[in-house]
Parts: sequence; structure tokens; C-alpha cells
Amino acid sequence: MNVLIVAGLVAAMPRGTTVPPVVPSIIPASTPHVGPSSRIIFMRRCPSSGCLITAGPIDDSRTNTSSIAERDTVIGPFSQGDAVWAGLMTCMRATYAPFDVTITDVDPGSTPHFEHVVGGQPSDLRSDIPNAGGVAPSTCTEIPNAITYTFDRYGNSSNYLCWTAAQETAHAFGLDHELLPTDPMTYIDGSLPKRFQPEAASCGESAPRQCSCTAGKQSSYETILALFGPGAPTPPTVTIRSPDAGLVQPHFVLRVDAMDDVEVARVELWIDGASTGVVATETPYRLTAPDGIAAGAHHVEARAYDIANTEAIAAIDVEMGPPCTAAAGCTDGDVCVLGVCIAGPSISGGLGDRCQANTECVDDQCVESADRTQVCVAACDGTAASCPSGFECLADAHVCWPTPDAGCCSSGGDPRGPIALSLGALALVVRRRRRS
Ligand SMILES: [Zn+2]
Repeated sequence: MNVLIVAGLVAAMPRGTTVPPVVPSIIPASTPHVGPSSRIIFMRRCPSSGCLITAGPIDDSRTNTSSIAERDTVIGPFSQGDAVWAGLMTCMRATYAPFDVTITDVDPGSTPHFEHVVGGQPSDLRSDIPNAGGVAPSTCTEIPNAITYTFDRYGNSSNYLCWTAAQETAHAFGLDHELLPTDPMTYIDGSLPKRFQPEAASCGESAPRQCSCTAGKQSSYETILALFGPGAPTPPTVTIRSPDAGLVQPHFVLRVDAMDDVEVARVELWIDGASTGVVATETPYRLTAPDGIAAGAHHVEARAYDIANTEAIAAIDVEMGPPCTAAAGCTDGDVCVLGVCIAGPSISGGLGDRCQANTECVDDQCVESADRTQVCVAACDGTAASCPSGFECLADAHVCWPTPDAGCCSSGGDPRGPIALSLGALALVVRRRRRS
């Protein structure tokens, strides 16, 4: 059955519409699948004279024949300028970068290709989709030489155009709508740009329903990967936030930032060219050095991998020293917590520094006191010696907290109201103990 799949407007209103089956089956079931019919997606920018479309029973981009056109027609121009078009092309290339498919705006002519028409209004194509932002034919398989559409209804927003263009082109690869807000197959607004996600997601427009092709859930990434195979590898980006190169202590914690165009699968800690077996799979990436690292010089690496196992490495050279103590062993504004030097109150985001969110803190913990003071903390073990001078280890919360007379950072109430509710740290609210 040939189903018409429609994208909503910017407000992403669900407007799924079905039309009677036009083509019973594009690919006979007996035909073995031997890869995609093409690896080209042609982005067709409708000029001032518009895009000529012929109505016909089967899509054929090579002759501009569209199975979902009500009649022979002209799709109006794409009225936005070159910069918007360039932004759309950049976004589409990034969105499809994980897959072995080329996005071009040069007409492939008689070479088989998928065609995405950009311009005009829904009424240029058919009368029953007045509010659509885009439309595509859809079966549960790839439609060779499919023609799909994004209409000129998003103003100059390249990212909204891209969201719709990615969704409509993928409908012609057999994909359904998903509820995952980060995926272009969704109707749900949210941060842009959206990228095909590897998660098994629920299908639906505004409420979960069974996926129409897979019966269960759907992974847009896996489905498109199965069709085209992987594109050129795009490694993650990885940086070591702390510690700095130089002196470290046993059980130092490597704090790592890693990002990827699709997803970071894991970050591994390697020392002197060998894996330590220490792995972090969730942000913030924190890797604690294991036992048994000898005193002296070591090459420390954070190795990040995306879901295609593409690697990226950030490295520092360190000198393993003895454990620090509350009173000695740390330099350059660092302080000693549990025998390891970490950034102290004089460093932005360091222990005891004021904060409004976990992400502002080197140790990723911003905690609010009873008087609504918010400071960066670090875990301790309940003993006084586990925190540096000027801090105490709170018995209940087990975090290092500025002592009232330290004068470094926690004076004054400075109430910040409801913003505290946005803090993580498991809603940990500590009460500063009175010292007798
Ligand atoms: Zn759609």
C-alpha cells in the first residue's frame, strides 16, 4: 500500500493522511534485496519558474514523475536566499553523514536518485494537505527514485527546513514517525538540528502507537544504516577537562568532555598505551585511575568511541606522585580531597566556588545549602582529613563543605529562589551544621 506521509508545520501538528493504494507493490516480494537503488539524494531547489512535476502511478525522479501529485503541476519557487539554502544543504549533509549516501543539489539527470523538491505550497501538489510542511510517499521499503517534498513554509530557518527534509526523504526509505524529540522522524519540537538516533523509539505523532512497518519500535539510524551502510567515519571530539598535565595522585579522576554527531558510545582510560579497563558510558565522563600505577611519568589517554567504534584520543603526560594531604601536596590553587588534588576555591568551578548548575563545577556537583547558598562540592569519606583545610566533611551528605569561618565563599544568603530546583545532584540539599 502506498501511504502518503505528511509533516506538520513548525508547530508540528500531526496530519497523517492516507490515500488509496496507488501502487500495490513497488518491489516484488520475491526480489532479493541487494542494496539501495541509489546512493544519491538530489535536493531540488525550485527556481522562480517553479519545479515541473508530472503525475503518474510510480515515482520516477528521472522524469519528475510523482505518484502523490494530484495532477501535472508546478511546485512554486523556494523564496529564501542562497544562505538559507546553503544552511539546509550543510544540515542535510551532516544529518546523513553517518550513512553511505550523497546529498547534492546538482541534478543527476538520468542516473537513478532520490529527489527532494523544496519550494511552493502544499496546494501546488494536492488539495488535501493544506497545513503540511512536507509530504512523501511511503511503503515499508525503499521507494526507488522517490520524489519527496518540503514546502516553502518555514521562512529562513534552515534547521526547520532540514528537519522536514530529513523526515520526508527518510519516509521514502520506509521510516515511520517517532516520538523521540531529537530525531528528525518526530513531530515533537525541541532542540535543532535533529539527527537520526540509534535508540529503539516508540512510533507515533503525539502519542505512542505501534510502528506501522516494524510492528514494535523503530530505530531510524539502524534502518538507514541497514539500507546504505556506513558513511565515512566521523570520529567524536574529546578533550580532557582535568587534571592538567603534571603532578597527579593515586586514584586521580580524569574528567572528559566527549561529543559526537550521533552518539558517544563510551570513553576509555588508557595509560602508557594500554587499556586500564576503566570505562565511562554516561556524561559527565569521569574515569578514576585504578590501583597499581607506579610513581613517575605516564602517558594518559581518554579514548572516545562513537557507536560505529570510530575512535578519538585526547592525552596528557603526568607524573604520578604520592597522595596529597589536607595540608600539603597540591599546588596552583588545587586542594586535596581524599588524597587527590582537585581545583580549589580560587579556580572557577573548583571546590567551594559559587555555582548555579552542576555543569559549572569541575566535579559536576553544585549543591544548595539551607540558606540557598550554592557551591561546588566533592565527595569525601566522612573523616575530617578527607577534606582540605577550610572545609569539613559533612557527616550526612559526605561532601566537602566550606566551614563557616573560612570566609572563602559561602558568606551571605543570596537567595536564588526556584532556580535551585533545576539542580541535579539528586536534589541533595545539605544543611550547614552549626559548630559549637
Ligand atoms: Zn512525516
